[in-house]
Amino acid sequence: MRFTPSSKLSGVCYEIRGPVIEHANALEEAGHTVMRLNTGNPAQFGFEAPEEILQDMIRSLPEAHGYSDSKGILAGRRAVAQHYETQGVTGLDVDDVFLGNGVSELVSMAVQALVDDGDEVLIPAPDFPLWTAVTRLAGGKAVHYICDESADWCPDPADVEAKITDRTKAIVIINPNNPTGAVYPRALLEQLLDIARRHDLLVFADEIYDRILYDGRIHHNCAVLAPDVLCLTFSGLSKAYRVAGFRSGWLAVTGPKHEARGYLEGLTMLAAMRLCPNVPAQYAIQAALGGRQSITDLVLPGGRLHEQRDRAWEALNAIPGVSCVKPQGALYAFARLDPKVHKIHDDEKLVLDLLLQEKIQIVQGTGFNWPSPDHFRILTLPHADDLETAISRIGRFLSGYRQ
Ligand code: PLP
Repeated sequence: MRFTPSSKLSGVCYEIRGPVIEHANALEEAGHTVMRLNTGNPAQFGFEAPEEILQDMIRSLPEAHGYSDSKGILAGRRAVAQHYETQGVTGLDVDDVFLGNGVSELVSMAVQALVDDGDEVLIPAPDFPLWTAVTRLAGGKAVHYICDESADWCPDPADVEAKITDRTKAIVIINPNNPTGAVYPRALLEQLLDIARRHDLLVFADEIYDRILYDGRIHHNCAVLAPDVLCLTFSGLSKAYRVAGFRSGWLAVTGPKHEARGYLEGLTMLAAMRLCPNVPAQYAIQAALGGRQSITDLVLPGGRLHEQRDRAWEALNAIPGVSCVKPQGALYAFARLDPKVHKIHDDEKLVLDLLLQEKIQIVQGTGFNWPSPDHFRILTLPHADDLETAISRIGRFLSGYRQ
């Protein structure tokens, strides 16, 4: 073949939108209805965007047809800086805030600017797989620290520390976690941040679900707990503000920035190379952060997300040979298939067979860099009745499934 993918792509994968999608598309083209439970896209399940965000963006459109500053418009960056200041983050200036086309673009820039061939980045397993993919794309090595299902999916700091080498540059902390729904206690975060402090690691704190918390759980910002550690905090509008399609996110740099001048110059250059983020969507940030936080209504008892989380968790645990730790945050449940009951050797095939038989699309655990084929992730975004139907069909499928 004349045109082949670059060698940089070997080992890079992103299974949330992986090859199974082609089969789902073909089924739909053939007239089937496919329940797509693979991407955390609130709009797809009838969650409406807060009205003030839409109105602010529409009002701003006439002024939003030119490029902006590469880091983003001042009003948006100021809103992010103030937002973190009210949460106790210190020393954050508008210049330390970069806006992006979603957190995804900023993750890619932040890793590209840091990682040389062979450099290592500590990433949780399971992870939101973009972190592993962009690390490998940058020539780096994703070193996974294992999160412990029997400890509510918290990582063991001793395991994290044991995996540090002289090539380790950074640690990724995803809290609240996708796919497990774990919300890390303050003491655990302090231990992880102390490891970063002692080993001179940059912290990538992916906190996009910081407002999607259940059962009174509290989210602790890494930047607040460790103001002396270089930390890039990522968040955006896709989840709590239900406007994933706007592609609007930010990163905020805190800690000893003077020790990272070269890195931050590199990041600024990458920001300039993408010219600027989509300008109308930047106007949504100020409205989102300054307005009423309507996500709270959805996550409290009686709220739609809370009820769906409960009903999904109960239905999953009712399937023989399936168990699931109760998610404390985010929009997913990561369920375990007991290997004594379900002998799965290839979980990608499991997901494909489920799609073909039941017309339900979920994501296999190994797609989140989980080391064995014994988990799957389901969204908790659909209406509770739809979730129960989907999960009971998954149960029916599993009861007759052999590999
Ligand atoms: N980080 C985590 C943990 C996510 O789950 C996601 C999306 O699912 C993202 C980042 C990317 O979000 P965005 O839509 O802002 O690119």
